[in-house]
Amino acid sequence: MGRRRRRKVILRPKKTLPKIFTCPHCGAQLVTVKKTENGYLVICGNCGIRHEFEERPGWMPVDYYNAFVDLYLEGKIAPPQQAETGGGKEGEEERGGDEAL
Ligand SMILES: [Zn+2]
Repeated sequence: MGRRRRRKVILRPKKTLPKIFTCPHCGAQLVTVKKTENGYLVICGNCGIRHEFEERPGWMPVDYYNAFVDLYLEGKIAPPQQAETGGGKEGEEERGGDEAL
């Protein structure tokens, strides 16, 4: 066996950039930032809220996400209407937190 001595490989800790974020609307950790033709699409895999940004030099996915959250908090992004529910409920408000006993 003539094993050659390998060069020592330096293992760098892989710096993985976060690409999955928490949705400001539904709280699910299913928000992804995807590269598109024109820029980046930030979309929640749970509630479907989404926004597409133009590509901005030097921006990382997290920057798009932060801008997405800002827009959401400013009320500039609205989640899609949930039309897939098959139930007959409509306009029912959920109340919680202060039930009187
Ligand atoms: Zn969501």
